[in-house]
Amino acid sequence: KKYVYFFDEGSKEMKSILGGKGANLAEMSKIGLPVPAGFTITTEACNKYYDDGKKIDDSVKEMIFNNLCKLELKTNKRLGDYNNPLLVSVRSGAVISMPGMMDTVLNLGLNDEATEGLSKITDNPRFAYDSYRRFIQMFGDVVLGIEKYKFDKILDSVKEVNGIEEDIDLTVDNLKEIVKKYKELVKKETRKEFPQDPKEQLMMAVTAVFESWNNARAIVYRNINEIPHHLGTAVNVQSMVFGNLGDTSGTGVAFTRNPSTGEKKIFGEFLINAQGEDVVAGIRTPKAIEELKNIMPEVYEQFIEVTKILERHYKDMQDIEFTIEKGKLYLLQTRTGKRTAKAAINIAVDMVDEGLIDKETAIMRIDPQQIDQLLHPTFKTEELEKGKNIAKGLPASPGASTGKVYFNSEDIIEAAKRGEKTILVRIETSPEDIEGMVNAEGILTTRGGMTSHAAVVARGMGKCCVAGCGEIKVDENNKLFKAGDVVIREGEYISLNGNTGMVYKGIIETQEAQLIGSFAQIMKWSDEVRRLKIRTNADTPKDSETAVKFGAEGIGLCRTEHMFFKDNRILAVREMIIAKTTEDRVKALNKLLPFQEEDFIGIFEAMGSRPVTIRLLDPPLHEFLPHKDEDIKELAEELNMDIKILKETIEDLKEFNPMLGHRGCRLAITYPEIYEMQVRAIISAAIKVINEKGIEVKPEIMIPLIGHEKELEIIKNLVNETAKEVMNDAKTQLNYKVGTMIEIPRAALTADAIAKHAEFFSFGTNDLTQMTFGFSRDDSGKFINEYRQKEIFEKDPFAKLDQSGVGKLIEIAVELGKTERDDIKLGICGEHGGDPESIDFCHRIGLHYVSCSPFRVPIARLAAAQAAI
Ligand code: ADP
Ligand code: MG
Ligand code: MG
Repeated sequence: KKYVYFFDEGSKEMKSILGGKGANLAEMSKIGLPVPAGFTITTEACNKYYDDGKKIDDSVKEMIFNNLCKLELKTNKRLGDYNNPLLVSVRSGAVISMPGMMDTVLNLGLNDEATEGLSKITDNPRFAYDSYRRFIQMFGDVVLGIEKYKFDKILDSVKEVNGIEEDIDLTVDNLKEIVKKYKELVKKETRKEFPQDPKEQLMMAVTAVFESWNNARAIVYRNINEIPHHLGTAVNVQSMVFGNLGDTSGTGVAFTRNPSTGEKKIFGEFLINAQGEDVVAGIRTPKAIEELKNIMPEVYEQFIEVTKILERHYKDMQDIEFTIEKGKLYLLQTRTGKRTAKAAINIAVDMVDEGLIDKETAIMRIDPQQIDQLLHPTFKTEELEKGKNIAKGLPASPGASTGKVYFNSEDIIEAAKRGEKTILVRIETSPEDIEGMVNAEGILTTRGGMTSHAAVVARGMGKCCVAGCGEIKVDENNKLFKAGDVVIREGEYISLNGNTGMVYKGIIETQEAQLIGSFAQIMKWSDEVRRLKIRTNADTPKDSETAVKFGAEGIGLCRTEHMFFKDNRILAVREMIIAKTTEDRVKALNKLLPFQEEDFIGIFEAMGSRPVTIRLLDPPLHEFLPHKDEDIKELAEELNMDIKILKETIEDLKEFNPMLGHRGCRLAITYPEIYEMQVRAIISAAIKVINEKGIEVKPEIMIPLIGHEKELEIIKNLVNETAKEVMNDAKTQLNYKVGTMIEIPRAALTADAIAKHAEFFSFGTNDLTQMTFGFSRDDSGKFINEYRQKEIFEKDPFAKLDQSGVGKLIEIAVELGKTERDDIKLGICGEHGGDPESIDFCHRIGLHYVSCSPFRVPIARLAAAQAAI
């Protein structure tokens, strides 16, 4: 078996055995770019090292020395030779790049004799001893395990004694003294002389690189980034080139395009008279790459040419390391450059225009999750740096917001009326806080996770939210919160970054998101290839407009209950709930009717002829009632009711498991008049918009929480009869659909029977997940992290669809539904509708659309396109 490849034997396709660095060094050599010669010891050799009980096998050793011979012939130098010493770097290189995690040794091959020789042939003793002291330090640190600071201490003391500030000003004698002291340190620490045999040095360094695969920080890095531990690292042995040979030498790093904006312009830095790590280590301040043009114009031209060749060859933006030795350019590394969402989009579109890649490749290059960054207002970066960070919570809903702090919804609403920008700060939010949340710029809670009420609702509204910020202590009574020793009182400004979870004191300026330029172009291309339609979850005309602006093709879920909390309607809602007779209930419902109608008119107008799925009332009624004594008292007064009776009624309505209680279609089985009113509002609103605006509206009435076909049969009849009545009264006919949510496992399992009465299914995966797993969405936060740590769940099933369990129910329902009704419309409207992996699943099982919050619509458009490619 071949364990060692000379650079000219490899290629970029051989990453898995040569590692990323080795494969690309081979590729660059192959296409004729100036790469110092060398060879790569494979990842398989690394794995063999561990399999053999941490020993480098003789056969591998032999291959290493054979390739070393080849390298010596090629460079016409010999390792350790006084007359012409070969120096090499020994560089780690994993399959998946792990920047800075593993070790590299430079200038290997130097010993006392070779250093003297190097000094003679270069006629540059300063350079020779500078290289030697760097080598002893690196080798000492990486191979011998002597802490770096011990070397630094020696260096610093020599500098201090001689009154020297910069390394570059060290004299030959200073360097010789440092070398001597370094060797003494090595002897003291290892009880052995610094190894003088270069071949021994080489084998020790190779072993150290193999070992570095399992150093603590590399293991942690792999865990965080989900990189398998069995891959192993390759080792690259490469002849040295020197950036520290004086003023016509230097070293640097560069991106072929700007990694934060995507601008088509080299972006990088370099240092004159420096080696390897000096640029990243920040010992001296590097210069911008453009300056190379003034210092070495020819090298600069050549470098620009090389970046073009690399981009044309790799067809992607590259991150390059280079060194200049006496005016000659060498490339030491290239890899695909990491970039922001903005840069990713600009680069992908530019590259299509340049003919480098096709549209499909451009679409696949962009991480849908990452473009979330571009859809919300963001803080101006310059401003962010000035901000005072006081706490960090969960980045529950992206965006940036600044406002005055208030601690309850009423105060927020009052402040909003005064025209203030506000931030709602609460221990946690509940449905009662909706009004406050609507009016606030952002939401900060101290409890609750990524799927808490605050998080879900905020994401739905596209509103910035930091949740579960346990670092702050909220004192709702005194209207203040504490973050460490910072106290923020009502009316003071804070700023929230929903992308990072950071909380700042004071005002930070923001900028609006726009779907223009390259972003719009990528969206257009995505629309051309995707098969899934993208709808949105929207409850208000404003959300609907936002969604349409972002490309929504309809509403997949309009929740009617949020409308119930608005303004003065809540009183009528409460009246309806506590009504003792049907007559009283109808009276209260009649007060709500005009409000609901008005809401639907607004939404229909915003959506035009796009389909609008409206879900009839779903939550348990108890959620609409007040809980605090003072609020109950107020309500009793408003309703002119005895407080004791009211309290009893509220008590009666309490349920042990409200999520499994009297809610959804069960409300309509017991109180048909509720749905009747809602249907009346929908149909008459639709008729008005048709007659007055000439818009061909397409309402789809959706019944929640169906578990048995009979439920649906009864309610469907109610819907149709009510609709008929309204249409007859208005003398206008209207096309509408009636369908159901599939969110109870029984409904999925009997979907054929249910499809008899349903023209469409919409998978309500929030409830379906909750009921399939049997754990409550609102309580699972307490244990789900533990589940993830113990690897019971890879991911939170409320965020990523559980394809093997919940997904299976969906597949069953799709199949059964189609056998009964082959043109049944199928969609998904849970949180998962905006998650790229779940969207891919929906594409594969043949759903017709996914529905997600307005701000995720562009993400879903892209993800649906990727699913189709
Ligand atoms: P990392 O993976 O941490 O970037 P590298 O193996 O790329 O480590 O080495 C770090 C730096 O050392 C490189 O950027 C380069 O500047 C320098 N270097 C490595 N090999 C050589 C060499 N053969 N000649 C000159 N400099 C080298
Ligand atoms: Mg590197
Ligand atoms: Mg539901």
